[in-house]
Amino acid sequence: MRTIQIEDFDDWRAKARKLIGNQVPPSEVQLFDRDGQQSLFGDPSDLDEASGATFRVSREFVSLAQAVGYHRDFNRWNLLYRTLWRIKTDQPHLLEIETDPDVHRLIQMEKQVRRDAHKMKAFVRFRKVERDEKEYFIAWHQPDHRIVRRVAPFFSRRFKGMNWAILTPDESVTWDQSELHFGPGVTRSDAPGFDELEDLWRTYYANIFNPARVKVKMMKSEMPVRYWKNLPEADIIADLLTDAPKRVEEMIQQHEGFEQTAINFIKPTEGESFTLATLKEMAIECTACDLCRDATQTVFGTGPVEAKIVLLGEQPGDQEDIAGVPFVGPAGKVLNEAIDNAGLDRDKLYLTNVVKHFKHIETNTEGIPNGKRRLHQKPNAREVRCCRPWFDAEWSCLEDAEFLVCLGETAARAILGPGNKISEVRGRLLSTDYCAKTIVTWHPAAILRSPRESHRQEKMRELIKDLALAGV
Ligand code: SF4
Repeated sequence: MRTIQIEDFDDWRAKARKLIGNQVPPSEVQLFDRDGQQSLFGDPSDLDEASGATFRVSREFVSLAQAVGYHRDFNRWNLLYRTLWRIKTDQPHLLEIETDPDVHRLIQMEKQVRRDAHKMKAFVRFRKVERDEKEYFIAWHQPDHRIVRRVAPFFSRRFKGMNWAILTPDESVTWDQSELHFGPGVTRSDAPGFDELEDLWRTYYANIFNPARVKVKMMKSEMPVRYWKNLPEADIIADLLTDAPKRVEEMIQQHEGFEQTAINFIKPTEGESFTLATLKEMAIECTACDLCRDATQTVFGTGPVEAKIVLLGEQPGDQEDIAGVPFVGPAGKVLNEAIDNAGLDRDKLYLTNVVKHFKHIETNTEGIPNGKRRLHQKPNAREVRCCRPWFDAEWSCLEDAEFLVCLGETAARAILGPGNKISEVRGRLLSTDYCAKTIVTWHPAAILRSPRESHRQEKMRELIKDLALAGV
């Protein structure tokens, strides 16, 4: 029996290539993790190097194997090698047989890794520390699997302009605003435990906590208790849950806090994370607020999941409501012109709105209600709050997004918070909770509504300039 130590996926791929090329069957080799049993025969240097040179596997298998490589199961390298051997020797279409025990296990492992990565992205909370007059952001996290290297590029894109570190028991990763550096794992006590950010977060969490919506079982499955200790809000969760019945009673008395939000319509299936396509399907059913009553349909975001630039508008207009696609009406035409002039490609952008249903009143040509014209109405703060979980879920899928462009004041306030006036924040590069590069600019509809041509031209120039900034 040959015993070989594996460092990571690339190492496994190189060694598997050699083993297959030399016709070494799975029954004659044991592949161990770098932390597993030490091997006296760790390098298959006696194998013929050239035999694996022409070896080819499908992209589907490589992607599956890459994900499984992050799983904690110590037997994963053997399982991958056995599957690869079977594909290569006599079952080229093995991956299509999902009931095959090896294939089934690999698919399960891939799902577990994906779900763990999703949770890491959602539950890592950075704490600010100051050293040598510099700010650093440090987080402690305990993933189920060895996913740090898989997820680290996501954080480097999202928090590009910050110096941060994520510490886990397996390994640590730091980002110095230009490169990722990986180091050994550390204990929880190496992560800072308390600072003013935590106080702020606790206050925020207590404010958004709605006891009427508490589903402890779901809460524990989406945010497993194991993670609670790493979250600043963890200290108050127990108290909030204990007080929940009393607070519900108080809210009933005060008639407050019972507004639904779209979060009740976002339901991941067991073991799955969201995709833009599944979210779009779920959003069709959303009736969380009254806006769905008079609108034709939900108008969900559109664009490639790998989009680097995300444009966030207010809500669909009359034509978008009918077409079911954002930015296809008159404002969409203005936006297209601005996108072209900014040197961007609309097909590479993700376009969406804070509110997914068209809010309007029906008027006659004189603007008197109950006519046949559908006149746009600005969504109020409650409607924006109600619908925002859809954007939050879209944003969590857009892992490559590097730039968030808020078109107009409604989008700006949804992202920056209330009180932000477009005249004060437009054109400035801002760092927000969503994206280290966020910019606010004119909504194309505001350009159309400007009464004077000179104003329209000026706003258009500014819109183009702001969009061009996103494309740099
Ligand atoms: S506007 Fe948003 S929250 Fe309201 S029903 Fe439509 S999708 Fe749901």
